[in-house]
Amino acid sequence: MIEKTAAELASALNNGEISSVELTQAYLDRISAHNEQLNAFITVCEESALNQAKAADEKRANGDSTPLLGVPMAHKDIFCTEGVTTSCGSRMLHNFIAPYNATVVENFNAAGAVMLGKTNMDEFAMGSSNETSFFGPVRNPWDLERVPGGSSGGSAAAIAADLCGMATGTDTGGSIRQPAAFCGITGFKPSYGRVSRWGMIAFASSLDQAGPICKSAEDAALMTNVMAGLDIKDSTSADIATEDYTAQLGQSLEGIKIGIPKQHFAEGLSTGVEQSIRDALAEYEKLGATLKEIDLPNNHLSVSAYYVVAPAEASANLSRYDGVRYGYRCENPVDLEDMYKRTRSEGFGDEVKRRIMVGTYALSAGFYDAYYRKAQKIRRLIKNDFDAAFKDVDVVIGPTSPHTAFKLGAKTDPVAMYLEDIYTIAVNLAGLPGISIPAGMSDGLPIGMHIVGNDFAESRVLNVAHQFQLATDWHKQKPDLSGAGS
Ligand code: GLN
Repeated sequence: MIEKTAAELASALNNGEISSVELTQAYLDRISAHNEQLNAFITVCEESALNQAKAADEKRANGDSTPLLGVPMAHKDIFCTEGVTTSCGSRMLHNFIAPYNATVVENFNAAGAVMLGKTNMDEFAMGSSNETSFFGPVRNPWDLERVPGGSSGGSAAAIAADLCGMATGTDTGGSIRQPAAFCGITGFKPSYGRVSRWGMIAFASSLDQAGPICKSAEDAALMTNVMAGLDIKDSTSADIATEDYTAQLGQSLEGIKIGIPKQHFAEGLSTGVEQSIRDALAEYEKLGATLKEIDLPNNHLSVSAYYVVAPAEASANLSRYDGVRYGYRCENPVDLEDMYKRTRSEGFGDEVKRRIMVGTYALSAGFYDAYYRKAQKIRRLIKNDFDAAFKDVDVVIGPTSPHTAFKLGAKTDPVAMYLEDIYTIAVNLAGLPGISIPAGMSDGLPIGMHIVGNDFAESRVLNVAHQFQLATDWHKQKPDLSGAGS
């Protein structure tokens, strides 16, 4: 049962095949058997999960059939959860108990989902391998010597290893899609502003977006139905009507036009990944789509522009962690300045400090125009490239990552790590929706395909992903964990 998609779990619950309490207990057992190896969860909420499950069973008995009622899930530890530790993967917040729920969490609670716990992540969502977490790295269920990707590596590993039915993630430059690719699962980043950021610990506010990490595009649609919508508590949340994101899933792909960015099939792409994506594109042709090569001429500037904009915003957002109001505070400060300095030196890890320094530098008086303003101009050019492309095509498809999951400890150079998001970052800079779905295997490791849509074309992206999953079985492949854990 635990291997089922959220949609399948919901129908098993509806048919009375299993209760939410039984299902929740099955996941809790699975977590206790495998979390030691995988390190996917930072916090497990056994008691409250079982209480929520009981409440869901009672609601169902009283005739409530909300789509995700009683389905056990996990939240990335970046979402504030009332009364539950919300660490953001950092020593700075390792003892922080949130006093309120993020809107995303509230929405899932209102939908009757069961929260099993909080998942591991790169510190403050900065990273592509989950190795910057204060709580230690997450291991990839397909190969325990490899990274799960990041920063939502805990959620992705938890889904791949069937430790939960669905999970949330956040994506600032690729943190939902790249771990989804490395773990062989589905990860969807909606358009910027589609999902409220309220109560989601801020990294780079103009780029951060929450989304589903799950087992199918259908699940991503069901989760988007719960997550999406205007939230007056988030001033950047979009005042654009939501849709029923499951409504278009069944639409035929006959006649749709797929753009293939030539920059995403160039140097640096591994042959195994390229072959799988080309095979997947051939599958789309069989489904009635036509392929057209497109040009994203400024794509090569996206990583550089991102690594000015994101650290700049992070340096401002992270200035609030000073030991005064919440989180970590150094021992025995001699005066205020000593407290600020030591709290921040001891509370943040190396990657976070690097970003704060880069960001502060880029925003400083003498360099603002040369770096920050320039990066914002590049951002506009990148968006223009997509606007031009979407005049001719309905979606853009390519690989999510240039390669499959790499070994733990393999990337020590920060710039090599930054290049991980070479295909995903431009989508955040442009604010567009993008999904990664499994599309092949290479040497026993999953390969992710990246499908990008125009502004607020969530339904189209989910439809294109779902039709591929109806025609293929890549999303049903599972890692073998029998040798791992008890
Ligand atoms: N890997 C990118 C970074 O380190 C993106 C992270 C994210 O999307 N949160 O900033």
